[in-house]
Amino acid sequence: VTRWTDLRFLMCGGEKREAEAASRLARWGVRVDTLGGDATETARAVESADVLVGPVSGVGRGGTIRCRASNNLQVPADLVHRGQLVLVGAADPAWAQNVRERGATLVEYRERDDFALANAVPTAEGAIQMAMELTDITLHGATVAVLGAGRTAMPLALKLKGLSARVFVLARRSEALAAAAAYGLEAIPLDRAPEGLDRCDVVFNTIPAMILDALLIEALSPHCVIIDLASAPGGTDFAAAAAAGRRAVLAPGLPGKVAPRTAGWILADVIRGAILEMPGYQP
Ligand code: NAP
Repeated sequence: VTRWTDLRFLMCGGEKREAEAASRLARWGVRVDTLGGDATETARAVESADVLVGPVSGVGRGGTIRCRASNNLQVPADLVHRGQLVLVGAADPAWAQNVRERGATLVEYRERDDFALANAVPTAEGAIQMAMELTDITLHGATVAVLGAGRTAMPLALKLKGLSARVFVLARRSEALAAAAAYGLEAIPLDRAPEGLDRCDVVFNTIPAMILDALLIEALSPHCVIIDLASAPGGTDFAAAAAAGRRAVLAPGLPGKVAPRTAGWILADVIRGAILEMPGYQP
């Protein structure tokens, strides 16, 4: 059994959030190196690490990693070795398969509940900040809708309610609707969306599928603002919104933008949690 703090970490790329995560790990007594970008240096650094941490934005084709400090990094799967732990936000499927075939343990942490639930808080605060900036009314007394009732949606809906907005939650599953209603939110089945949406001042979308189509956009009041939180390309027909004169914005990556320090702490917690769940590691 290995103490997780005895592992050697390599933080590969990322932005302020990942830098904050690295410094939190270091404060916990973990040895963390960061990658510069030079290919020889990358090979040497990857070789000597026990744990590779990739950014929330994920790893693209061929191991391409976004990096704030320099150009994109390249971490080809064939640098990874047996027994290594590889924790990345998400990974290109071919790269992921190669990493696993090399005998490494791969975790795509963005889909973990601990990550998604904890990140729902900075996401909600960022979305509320955007709503305040994009409207000329207070959220207190406003009518708002949250599309979806998942991990991002519910904390947002409850914070909006805490600001004294009238909050509709639109979801497809009756269980999700019942939960929303139990929290004191106004639950509406998605297939009856126009009933809730025509009164709204702000609509927040969290559903990662085309949901705000031309028909629903037509049902919105002319002053309604759409803030789409779903990962690119979002769930809004932005062309239809523009044609109908509705303000619609896609708002990706809010935790890293509005609260990089908190988001970095969350990432460090998730990394620690993910490793301690694996057999053979202890606090
Ligand atoms: P989640 O917990 O899986 O929730 C997704 C919600 O969307 C659920 O209510 C789900 O309903 C619903 N949904 C999915 N597909 C649907 C469809 N085809 N029709 C109707 N409803 C559908 O996901 P999450 O963690 O909340 O993440 C939601 C999105 O937000 C993702 O795209 C994520 O990447 C993004 N996100 C963005 C930010 C940001 O900063 N903008 C931050 C965090 C997350 P069911 O339960 O019925 O499936």
